Amino acid sequence: MINVTKSYLPPQEEYNEYLKGIWQRVHLTNHGPLVTELEERLKDYLGVKHLFFLNNGTIAIQIAIKALDLKNEIITTPFSYVATTSSIVWENCTPVFADIHPKTYCIDPAEVEKKITEKTTAILATHVYGNPCDVEALEKIAKKYNLKVIYDAAHAFGVKYKNTSVLNFGDISTLSFHATKIFHTIEGGAIVTNNDELAHRIAYMRNFGHNGSEDFWGVGINGKTSEFNAAMGLCILPNMDKIIAKRRLLSERYDKILENLGLTTPLIDSKVTYNYSYYPIIFKSEKDLLEVKKILNASNIYPRRYFYPSLNTLNYVNNTPMPISEDISRRVLCLPLYYDLQEVEAKMIGNIILKTLKNI
Ligand SMILES: *Cc1c(COP(=O)(O)O)cnc(C)c1O
Repeated sequence: MINVTKSYLPPQEEYNEYLKGIWQRVHLTNHGPLVTELEERLKDYLGVKHLFFLNNGTIAIQIAIKALDLKNEIITTPFSYVATTSSIVWENCTPVFADIHPKTYCIDPAEVEKKITEKTTAILATHVYGNPCDVEALEKIAKKYNLKVIYDAAHAFGVKYKNTSVLNFGDISTLSFHATKIFHTIEGGAIVTNNDELAHRIAYMRNFGHNGSEDFWGVGINGKTSEFNAAMGLCILPNMDKIIAKRRLLSERYDKILENLGLTTPLIDSKVTYNYSYYPIIFKSEKDLLEVKKILNASNIYPRRYFYPSLNTLNYVNNTPMPISEDISRRVLCLPLYYDLQEVEAKMIGNIILKTLKNI
């Protein structure tokens, strides 16, 4: 069976080495030495000032909203994983959708500006598939209207824009290290900021607000993570360049087979250093997509409809039509892409799609 993704696992002996240390120290969670070490190594690898390793990418978004003390309306993208929207609602704010750009599939700054009201407090945008938003245009809008900016960078691990980490834009960026993501700690996530004052708040917020064992800074939540999760991250991080290179190679194999079929892929700016975290293709019609999916499934190949449905159609938000997002989400399919996928398998998948589309 070939799934859309398969978690990268390091050689088991490498993980066992870390386990020995954990057994010696019996320091399992609550900011152990491996958590601290992973945070340091991630800051270094990603080129960011403050990074807090958390238990998942959803809590990262929720802490970001709390740390910025956001209220009322947050303008957001309808084309993302559900956690982007659900976190806003969970924090008692109102998601206001702005449609995506028809070529990049990230939130369209021109649409954002149309949605601003006196109740708007922030923009929460996703670098969807790791393709950076128009960070410069969004920054301009944020300055003009005095809004905060959070980037859901769950897909953007290692992505650079103009040779700097894309995580350096906005007030806060959030990452997910879930097992399905390009870099993972089984479950995990992180919050990144360059702002010292925000970092100070986040450090308390992720640990129940504890200020020592008997004093509390303010309200907090449990965003902590374990030594076991950190150990997985420490085993995987040194392999990231190799992992990204393999994904790039597989993506290029797909590109070659699927060119000239009238399929579309996201437009990635030439100033972006991409991480090849996903391989989305947009079919001419949903009918074509469903036919290809059926044929692939019959061969035990399971691509995924990331992201379908468009989030403005969730039953707990105000559904305002988002024509571009709804159209793209009906026609997009993510092909299998992971380190262990063999070139021959990518070629086989590409050729099944090629044959199916030629027969339609
Ligand atoms: C995976 C993902 C999340 C949630 O991350 P978890 O670690 O699974 O909580 C949030 N946003 C996007 C865009 C994601 O893909």
